[in-house]
Amino acid sequence: MDSPERLAAVRQQIALACRTAGRDPASVTLVAVSKTFDAGAIEPVIAAGQSVFGENRVQEAKAKWPALQARHPGIALHLVGSLQSNKAKEAVALFDAIHSVDRPSLCEALAKEIARLGRRPTLFVELNTGSEPQKAGVPPERADEFLKACRETYGLAIAGLMCIPPADEPPAPHFALTAKIAWRHELKLLSMGMSGDFQTAIELGATHVRIGAAIFGART
Ligand SMILES: *Cc1c(COP(=O)(O)O)cnc(C)c1O
Repeated sequence: MDSPERLAAVRQQIALACRTAGRDPASVTLVAVSKTFDAGAIEPVIAAGQSVFGENRVQEAKAKWPALQARHPGIALHLVGSLQSNKAKEAVALFDAIHSVDRPSLCEALAKEIARLGRRPTLFVELNTGSEPQKAGVPPERADEFLKACRETYGLAIAGLMCIPPADEPPAPHFALTAKIAWRHELKLLSMGMSGDFQTAIELGATHVRIGAAIFGART
């Protein structure tokens, strides 16, 4: 299969998962994660109609996307990887959504650049639902306090939550916990589900699935 065929298969699987969950397929945004793939690999996926893409590094996205976006107006770019505060300006300038808001210093930097640049990317707070020490994200027991600080201290409009479940655990409880915390805070967006678990994420309410390998093939 080539990438347009894999994209079509993923779209079908999303539609099927939505039907099973009694959800409207239009309520799930497919973010095609193109990290490590060059413009030549991305072009066929754009040609197949995909218009929302995800990257995990600001520098890589900056090198690849301005030229692609000039050729293909209307593409939305999402940052799914962690963000250093000193790259907040570049991130706010380039991305339409940031899925990795997870600490006060970053909130402060984002608030400043959002005000300065007059651009308002859609913001997700990343949760570390497994409380894994090596992983980015806010531990679930600190989510309430952090979301309150986003609003009240930094004036950031948080639209949703994002999580990456631990690799060695069933993802469903992590998705369910993320959905529960979002519901409690009246947050409408849920960024959860990757190539291996997006159907489960959709059953549990995902509005954004971040899918790389199932579309572009294995990363080397
Ligand atoms: C790479 C990545 C993805 C996509 O992962 P696949 O397993 O290739 O679908 C999703 N989210 C984040 C944060 C990533 O870094």
